Amino acid sequence: MKAAVIGAGPAGCTAAYTLRKQGHEVVLVEAQDHVGGRTSQLHREGFNLGSGALFLMGGIYPRTNALLKELDRYQDLVPWDADTHVLDADGSRYTVKFDQVMSFLGMAALTWRDKLRVAAGVARQLLSPGPKLCFDGAELARYDRGENLETWSRRVLGDKGHRYITVPYMGFLYAVPMSWLSTSLFHAILKQFYRLALSVPPEGVGQVCDWIIEGTPGLDLRLSSPAEKITRTASGYTVHAGGSTHEVDAVIVAPEPGVAADLLDGLIPSDSVRKLRDCLYSDYAHVQVCYAKNPWPDFPASVALPANLERDWGACVLQSRRHPNAVPEGGEAVGVYFYTPPLAGMTDDDIARSAVDTVHEVYGPAPEPTFVHVFHYQRGLSIANPGHYATLDSLHAEMPDGIHLAGDYFAHAGVEAAVFSGELAANRLMATSPTRPQPVS
Ligand SMILES: Cc1cc2nc3c(=O)[nH]c(=O)nc-3n(C[C@H](O)[C@H](O)[C@H](O)COP(=O)(O)OP(=O)(O)OC[C@H]3O[C@@H](n4cnc5c(N)ncnc54)[C@H](O)[C@@H]3O)c2cc1C
Repeated sequence: MKAAVIGAGPAGCTAAYTLRKQGHEVVLVEAQDHVGGRTSQLHREGFNLGSGALFLMGGIYPRTNALLKELDRYQDLVPWDADTHVLDADGSRYTVKFDQVMSFLGMAALTWRDKLRVAAGVARQLLSPGPKLCFDGAELARYDRGENLETWSRRVLGDKGHRYITVPYMGFLYAVPMSWLSTSLFHAILKQFYRLALSVPPEGVGQVCDWIIEGTPGLDLRLSSPAEKITRTASGYTVHAGGSTHEVDAVIVAPEPGVAADLLDGLIPSDSVRKLRDCLYSDYAHVQVCYAKNPWPDFPASVALPANLERDWGACVLQSRRHPNAVPEGGEAVGVYFYTPPLAGMTDDDIARSAVDTVHEVYGPAPEPTFVHVFHYQRGLSIANPGHYATLDSLHAEMPDGIHLAGDYFAHAGVEAAVFSGELAANRLMATSPTRPQPVS
């Protein structure tokens, strides 16, 4: 079988790898001049800036871990001790560890009564049935009861539990108000809190896709080749990309859902196109404030999270502590990650200015930064609101023969969601393919 995979983010790269492993011919077309999508790294003045993804999340990323083990790269991951300050509205700080959810219970802002309420809520969650895989959209759909995360969290963990645990935690991951999110992911994380551990490849999360491509011999990778059109042929499909045409038996479509909708319009039912187009996305901005000389070499925490939604930002991260080659020797960069709602009224200059003010508030006075780099996405992260998973999951059954969809949006943003969906798309395609070649050794 010959397949085309469109989009070389983690979803497309994983799909291409999975198909090649079984000996299929694969052309992977990517619009940009590099692989990685929203995980890619950008090099500027000696800094290795993450354009998107910050970290992998240990035991709750089982498919990513399995893939990296297969590629003999898992042992190269660098653990990240995310010592974290949670900042209160009045400037008080509480020290926790981001990947040890239970450490949040130690915050002095919580009374014993608050702590007991949270502990009881978490215990109830542990004992009740719930999703085991944090990034399997079909499983998350089964446990999505239509309630939003804010209502659930205030009802079960109490207002203080909501403010000091749910908001800083999920605000860092998704940067939107909790009322915009379904409960399923948070429930899945609570059920597996002991498996959480943060790590990063030495060159940043973008290296995951580089590793996958290196581990996929025989792949026909076409960079700077945006797919423009897919047309039906007598025996399969033609993919028109970057001035070339590719005659294939099947296509895995792995860019964001709006692009997938444009490419598939006319090939799939109009209701399916609508579901793809209606998939909610957040506006997203983060800023890297970069210093050639580190103004705070001994700062006691590497992450800061606000315990409220009154600030513009949802997280600050010291990049030098995240992975070894993030900053030039003696330098520092702070990633300031913004909440979505305030962005509607902000220009990129406003965002950059607010980021520098935030850095001073969180880490203390500093001279002018060497440079400030703004990453601003009109469509940053898919929003998994109540009903999202079931709507998106239903799309798989609506695709014609030989067309499969992949992307993190089937669950919610995260490398694991992308890897999971890429594998699933490739496996579904191979299960229906009439030609079964021998695996590549
Ligand atoms: C600021 C930010 C922080 C994040 N932090 C984390 C984190 O800490 N941990 C984590 O696990 N995840 C994180 N994520 C999410 C993670 O980056 C995504 O879940 C992941 O990149 C999704 O992979 P994907 O392959 O589905 O999509 P993408 O990475 O978006 O890849 C899609 C690819 O398709 C390509 N494409 C688009 N149109 C076409 C076309 N017409 N033809 C060909 N190619 C096309 C794009 O160029 C892109 O390369 C973060 C994301 C952002 C934005």
